[in-house]
Amino acid sequence: MRALVYKGPRDVQVENVPDARIEKPTDALVRVSTTNICGSDLHMYDGRTSVESGQVLGHETLGEVIEVGDAVDHVKVGDLVCLPFNVACGFCENCERGLTGFCLTVNPGKAGGAYGYAEMGPYRGGQAELLRVPYADFNCLVLPEAAREQQSDYVMLADIFPTGYHATELAGVLPGESVVIYGSGPVGLMAAYSAMIRGAAKVFVVDSIKERLALAEKIGAIAIDDTEGEGADQVVEWTGGGADRGCECVGYQCFNCKGHEVPNLTMNNLVKAVRPTGVIGVVGVFMPKDPGGSDALAKEGKIAFDMGQFFSKGQRMGTGQANVKAYNRRLCKLIEAGRANPSFIVSHELPLKDAPDAYKHFDARDKGWTKIVLKPQQG
Ligand SMILES: [Zn+2]
Ligand SMILES: [Zn+2]
Repeated sequence: MRALVYKGPRDVQVENVPDARIEKPTDALVRVSTTNICGSDLHMYDGRTSVESGQVLGHETLGEVIEVGDAVDHVKVGDLVCLPFNVACGFCENCERGLTGFCLTVNPGKAGGAYGYAEMGPYRGGQAELLRVPYADFNCLVLPEAAREQQSDYVMLADIFPTGYHATELAGVLPGESVVIYGSGPVGLMAAYSAMIRGAAKVFVVDSIKERLALAEKIGAIAIDDTEGEGADQVVEWTGGGADRGCECVGYQCFNCKGHEVPNLTMNNLVKAVRPTGVIGVVGVFMPKDPGGSDALAKEGKIAFDMGQFFSKGQRMGTGQANVKAYNRRLCKLIEAGRANPSFIVSHELPLKDAPDAYKHFDARDKGWTKIVLKPQQG
């Protein structure tokens, strides 16, 4: 099969690799029709993770089941399915509690597995013609028939829609509240979209990239341009003391207005922009180790955090990757009912062969490259 393979920093190629296949009776094999490039793929692309050369990337995948193992009972050949980026077992202590992002079975010695990702287990990614899905009955979200013609919406259920929603869940967004979101990349936009779905009265999105802020405005958020004065100060002024809730949707590779990487920037700005006793949800990726980090702390996966302010303000914080299965079925029903169309962020739909070029543009934050959807069956 053809697949997008990581070769080394800023070097990915489409190559022929051995076909994905059924390895255990609980597996399904999926012919991938739609798969996305994610902002978190860029951490690997940039050489900022331990991912090994030869890994097939991609963890946002939708396709048709073409084969199932003998122990697969519910999922059938012909089903159109969307796969959570988390690989999960369904029967461990964490999965039982709905915390599928921290499954204790699928990545021995660690909590949590994923397709095509550094440190997340032996699973190849979905930027390929075929994908092996472990524990298929548990992991496959079987999509409604209408999804066949609307794949760009439904594929967002693999990661960024639930991840954006998770940020608002960690922050505990309630109807009528104000929410500040740092980052207007795809996840930040999905967090803003989710905050509105949950009934937030005011949603602020802080960034320094104008075209992304324009998308935030398009869905009804208030765009805060960090290049026009300190974003946190603007939010405090707008809200008369700080937003009720805050979402971190940037992560450790955070750049200031001058283009310098400052890993603690968004976290400390959130402490500033959220009101006393407010709550912060963090879904932007932070790595336990970052050899390419911009300072000595960052190399150790640490940041200089304004703990004093955080404590004085009595704020709380929730962190971690999304438990996609906790949300994807309900978010799917919102799409099916025409109440959500997360594909508004898609800027490009390309055949798989164009993926290396797309990574280059996406990594450079080139104008117009907000979210790339790949079509492996189209070349
Ligand atoms: Zn992703
Ligand atoms: Zn589990």
